[in-house]
Amino acid sequence: MAVVGAGLGGTTLAALLVAGGFDVTVYEQAPALSALGAGIHLGPNVVKVLRALGIGDELLSISNVPDAWVSRDSITGDRLFRLEFDAARYGAPYLTVHRGRFHELLTGLVPKDRIALNKRLVGIDDSGEAIELAFDDGSRACADIVVGADGLNSKVRELLLGEERPVFTGNVSYRADYPAHLLVGVELDDVTKWWGPGRSVIVYFLDWRRETVYFVADVPQPVWTADRSFVPGDLEELHAAFEDCHPDLVKILKAAPETSKWGMFEREPLPLWSRSRIVLLGDACHPMRPHMGQGAAMAIEDGAVLARCLLANEPGDHSGAFAQYEATRRDRASAVQAESKRNRWLKAEYDPLWVYGYDAINVPLEVPRANGA
Ligand code: FAD
Repeated sequence: MAVVGAGLGGTTLAALLVAGGFDVTVYEQAPALSALGAGIHLGPNVVKVLRALGIGDELLSISNVPDAWVSRDSITGDRLFRLEFDAARYGAPYLTVHRGRFHELLTGLVPKDRIALNKRLVGIDDSGEAIELAFDDGSRACADIVVGADGLNSKVRELLLGEERPVFTGNVSYRADYPAHLLVGVELDDVTKWWGPGRSVIVYFLDWRRETVYFVADVPQPVWTADRSFVPGDLEELHAAFEDCHPDLVKILKAAPETSKWGMFEREPLPLWSRSRIVLLGDACHPMRPHMGQGAAMAIEDGAVLARCLLANEPGDHSGAFAQYEATRRDRASAVQAESKRNRWLKAEYDPLWVYGYDAINVPLEVPRANGA
């Protein structure tokens, strides 16, 4: 079996399948699994999967465990909502962590010889007895099943559904992380989202010592012309976008020595998640705006449920497993995709139990509906 992409979703799937005795190879275009990246929220719904993978304790040792989420008005600083992260109610704690370190922990679960680096997929031939994958270095590989876990610009998705660029949302995100001692005169809550008008900023710590501050600042931008997902950000441009805001927020942004700017892209829900022996997960299948901090969560949940379906069905019955996977996951991923688009998550009083209470390891696997039902 081939998994294309060693991101968060592909790695979760591979780790669970290797543990279940599957013969899996992950093909990753990057030359190395480097610990790059900035911050990530891991909601209780993700932490449940990571505990099942056996990395719950290690993860805790490198994460911050915020006790609450705080929403504040960007101009007045008024508190709009405070949500206590009730680990007993959601079944696990809420974590914030350095994304690269988290990814490193996850990839450590897949034996090194099961991850082929420097393999950028360029073609798939599904006409023979085995599926043939072609890579940009001229090499080829065969597999009985191919999983497209290759992110927003998925080649597997393109080969399945035709070429269609993801849609620019009209928003960019400035991201930065910096040592907490650079921020003077501001008492930070563990996780704060600053709201409006027309912009937002989320701020949190990346470690339990609260030594590193991280923010993502969303602002409108009419077009995205870069051919990459991010470019170096202009600090003056960032500061100008928030100059009328509460002094604490202005200080948080001004303390960053540098920033990067990311284009925000999305897709409409796909008409199909699999065809024949090929299946999609994560951003390859349902990329979403980052406003709920649940994009990676959905990729990880997908990986867990797809692994369960493959393990639960007879070997060789990939179509049964894929149908069960889609039936179990489609409504949830689409609901989170739609809610992310609204950009109102936890702005005002709200019960997030339907998102945080989900348990991909134990949720019943759905019976696929018959055609036309
Ligand atoms: P990816 O993580 O994108 O992995 C895809 C992998 O496939 C990559 O390793 C890539 O190199 C590889 N690949 C691509 N093409 C090929 C090819 N042709 N051949 C071989 N390999 C290939 N989500 C959260 O849950 N919490 C957050 O706090 C959060 N914050 C975010 C903040 C911002 C600003 C943004 C933009 C996103 C955020 N997300 C967050 C969303 C999250 O980053 C994505 O949803 C998540 O990374 C998707 O995981 P994935 O495994 O599907 O794809």
